[in-house]
Amino acid sequence: MKPQIFRRLEGGLAETARSALDLAMPPHCPLTREELASAGAIGAAAWGAAHFIEDPACRRCGVPFSADYGAEVECPACIAAPPDFDRARAAVVYDDASHAMIVSFKHGDRTELAGMFGGWMARAAGAMLQRSSILTPVPLHRRRLLGRRFNQSALLARAVAQRSGARLSLDGLVRRRATPPQKDLSADARKRNVAGAFALRDEKARALFRDAHVVLVDDVLTTGATLSAAARALKRAGAARVDALVLARVVKGGIGAI
Ligand SMILES: [Zn+2]
Repeated sequence: MKPQIFRRLEGGLAETARSALDLAMPPHCPLTREELASAGAIGAAAWGAAHFIEDPACRRCGVPFSADYGAEVECPACIAAPPDFDRARAAVVYDDASHAMIVSFKHGDRTELAGMFGGWMARAAGAMLQRSSILTPVPLHRRRLLGRRFNQSALLARAVAQRSGARLSLDGLVRRRATPPQKDLSADARKRNVAGAFALRDEKARALFRDAHVVLVDDVLTTGATLSAAARALKRAGAARVDALVLARVVKGGIGAI
């Protein structure tokens, strides 16, 4: 039996810091800061503020439509420039409320929120996600991972796998070069920034993804450039189909814009 301190270190420093914090203060909502009865949840006001995405939506990228144009209809953006993933689905609209929750999860070490978010994402994926699908997170470059301490997309992918029973590959896809953050770049610059950034780790990963249905997992979809670049790497390696599942997606003009 290892001394408890070693087991705690193996469990991850973030986890240890979290339990110390739990002792110091009761769990609170990442949006409203109200006190909650249990950790890993949000308050009633935050539930009300979250804009869950429902059908009708673009068949390909999942952007919500204000009217039902039929299940096979694609949005103008997908028709003009089809993304390299086959389909994308998101749980919520990326707006002030979801932004605050994601910042809390990603930069505030509220990793216990992954379970709830994973449930939202599994529901949003619906039939797109099968037990034979392989969930794989959009990887961070190892230098970024050192600074962040955890990959939020990996936590989400693991939570979705737990909810859905789908397969999981946490490290088969790698980011082979560090890229500057996408957030201040134009759509074209984003594409150039991530072109060729992804690759498969090794022959074992190549064999795993060959002919597979892969579901890429990320926290936010903005233009889809990162997910497209990752999908291209997987398809080059022989994946049969690559879909994307995210927690939140940007909807230009808000729900009902199309
Ligand atoms: Zn679309």
